[in-house]
Amino acid sequence: MSVRVELGDRSYDIAIAPGALDRAGELLAPYAARGRFIVVTDKNIVPNQLYRLETSLTAAGIASAVEVLPAGESTKSWKMLERLTDALLAYGVERNDTIIALGGGVIGDLVGFAASILKRGCRFVQVPTTLLSQVDSSVGGKTAINSKAGKNLIGAFYQPAHVLIDPTTLDTLPPRELRAGYAEVIKYGLIDDADFFAWCEANGGRLLAGDPDARTHAITKSVEAKARIVGQDERETSGRRALLNLGHTFGHALEAETGFSDRLLHGEAVAAGMALAFRFSASLGLCPQEDADRVTAHIAAAGLPATLSAAGIDATGKALVAHMMHDKKMEGGQLPFLLARGIGQTYLEKKVDLAKVEAFLDAERG
Ligand code: NAD
Ligand code: ZN
Repeated sequence: MSVRVELGDRSYDIAIAPGALDRAGELLAPYAARGRFIVVTDKNIVPNQLYRLETSLTAAGIASAVEVLPAGESTKSWKMLERLTDALLAYGVERNDTIIALGGGVIGDLVGFAASILKRGCRFVQVPTTLLSQVDSSVGGKTAINSKAGKNLIGAFYQPAHVLIDPTTLDTLPPRELRAGYAEVIKYGLIDDADFFAWCEANGGRLLAGDPDARTHAITKSVEAKARIVGQDERETSGRRALLNLGHTFGHALEAETGFSDRLLHGEAVAAGMALAFRFSASLGLCPQEDADRVTAHIAAAGLPATLSAAGIDATGKALVAHMMHDKKMEGGQLPFLLARGIGQTYLEKKVDLAKVEAFLDAERG
């Protein structure tokens, strides 16, 4: 299966196939300059997926140097960026070398940013190993590290040369991380594809239980949706790409409330955020209550939090709205929000009255 991201001279293909990692030597050979790759990964990937990649590269006669970083969000830091760029320069990286990012969104975001600045830009290939990175972060060219002032504030738009997705890498992913990534899969159905949401309702359980066909189908549908949206609005200027943030304004407030800790993973916050966005839309009379109920039910059935209490949040509407205002452009007590007229009918509402959001969240708190 192959999906193309159409971006003129920055276009690239996303290859999706179970077992692709074991054929990486053959599939990635066109990107190996001087017969070598530099692979960057994190320590949790080493026992599971790194061996598969290295074995395949060796069999294809491709040499590889490997840089292993610590796992976790704190790796997206200036300190690790410096460590990584120093290591890559020590390997003698040249502009036509290809760096392989093998890992989740943390490795993908950090390596992409490092590639964008090394020698003013060298090639990189994404080999995502979490469901979140396979359906979302490896596609679209957003790269970043975090700073004291917040997440993803230092970065660049920098597209990979290729994305190689092997759904079997998910076999070793902790179930909680898998479910968190599944939230972003549901998101594509809710944005503009009601049929895909119905597919999720019918097949999400199979996907979570490990069914390879369900996983490959969901990844392909997700990546097609993301590629289409990124192709229309690479730099989030027309508002089209902003649709990918469905559930993220509410979700971000929940993440901020938990201090961006392991108490609530990003995907879990987004799941609750999407359920809140649909119930908020229903409370405003924009969306049928029946659709909001379906969204809530499917998120809960997937083992994801669909309510504030399921997300472990006991904050007031006022406190949560304060988190939303912290990092957004406000216009006279009003904030742009993604709302829905129904499943598959998400749209950007430029001005939402924050007093209404506060009252809604207080009512949700019960
Ligand atoms: P992650 O990279 O931290 O991976 C989650 C955990 O799973 C880590 O401990 C990792 O070591 C481990 N892991 C990864 N693959 C594994 C495997 N196959 N088997 C066993 N363990 C494995 O987290 P994530 O959820 O993939 O990504 C989150 C990051 O992505 C955040 O920093 C977020 O900001 C970023 N993100 C970026 C974009 C974008 O467009 N660039 C979009 C969404 C999210
Ligand atoms: Zn997200």
